[in-house]
Amino acid sequence: MTNLHTIQIPDIIQRLSHNMYFEANASFFYETFIKFWSRHGQVEGCQCQAKDTCMLNFVFDTHMKAHRLVCAYTSSCDESVLEMGPVAVGCPRPPLRSTSSLLKNISTINKNKCKHYCADHYKYGLEPNIIENSTTTKANELERNSDEFEDTDQCTVHRDEDDTQHKRRTAGFMAIVSNCDVIIGWNESVHSEGMRRNTYQLLRFLHLGGILPQAAAYDSACTFFAYLKNQYCVSIMPSPYVDELLQKKYCIDRFHRRNHTRPECKTVLSCSHPDNRPFFDGQNTQVCEQLFAHFTKLKAALRSITWPYSNILYCLIFHLRNCSETQIFPDNPYLAVKSNIPPPTSSLFEWTHIMASHNYQLQHQNQGDCRREDDDIEETYNEYE
Ligand SMILES: [Zn+2]
Ligand SMILES: [Zn+2]
Ligand SMILES: [Zn+2]
Repeated sequence: MTNLHTIQIPDIIQRLSHNMYFEANASFFYETFIKFWSRHGQVEGCQCQAKDTCMLNFVFDTHMKAHRLVCAYTSSCDESVLEMGPVAVGCPRPPLRSTSSLLKNISTINKNKCKHYCADHYKYGLEPNIIENSTTTKANELERNSDEFEDTDQCTVHRDEDDTQHKRRTAGFMAIVSNCDVIIGWNESVHSEGMRRNTYQLLRFLHLGGILPQAAAYDSACTFFAYLKNQYCVSIMPSPYVDELLQKKYCIDRFHRRNHTRPECKTVLSCSHPDNRPFFDGQNTQVCEQLFAHFTKLKAALRSITWPYSNILYCLIFHLRNCSETQIFPDNPYLAVKSNIPPPTSSLFEWTHIMASHNYQLQHQNQGDCRREDDDIEETYNEYE
């Protein structure tokens, strides 16, 4: 996938070195993935399902069924998408184990409050009103505005009020799938997904060099497009990528039209409207549902994977699934270079450098504090089944 001749991989017996390596390189792996798969049509011999209509449209959606427990802290920000300012993306780390040494001298009542948080954030369990910096305050305010926009929107497709507490503590993934059934982008979504987060994911995808087809099917396409227009020059600053998103054709497929009340949801925002038919006629707009149905079967396995392992795991399983869908062989060196696919611009950090630049001792101590597959996760999940 890259121009590199050699690649250094972490010491296989040290979990800590894996975690730090995957965390530091999460962006590199994702950029490599989306650059390659959004250009898969350039690969010689690619047999994606709709060869003559490759990348005609894309479908995006969020899957929360393959959820796992994450830290309850909601204010972690990403500021890499400049048009949007700080985006509250949530903390993907696993919550503390109840046996964690960090909770040793804390009363049972407080322990129960803290155990929903990770080692970095458990103090928020005791003092939920810890004063945040201006960036997180801004990010939270923008997130609330987005939720309010959705709550008062005419078509309320995704409303699921009772579940708020549950979603606050779980992560699923969002996927961008092309009509030719290739996963071109994905992201772990910590807590429930809203319009601001969807905009962020799509803009981040474009910033990292991914290519999006001209038309998109999404079950809340009307709300999404209304949100983009409403927030243009307000919380979303103009840029070529924002303009690109505004110029796409958005559609709600016929399977999702039921709860829509806007008149345009059945006309200009419908896949069968004459303007949209060239992009959707004869195309499968159920690619996300089919993918999610497959991953629902694997939910027990996915629950046990924690960040940042989860990031590299999704990268690999989606890559192999795409390889099988397109008949592109995964063991073909320099395939991206041979197919004129640009290499990633972010750099790959070698694990020896990462280990040297971190406070090894401190991390090593905290390592045993995080809940993992062998802990009380199953028990906690059962209350939601
Ligand atoms: Zn294709
Ligand atoms: Zn956290
Ligand atoms: Zn609608």
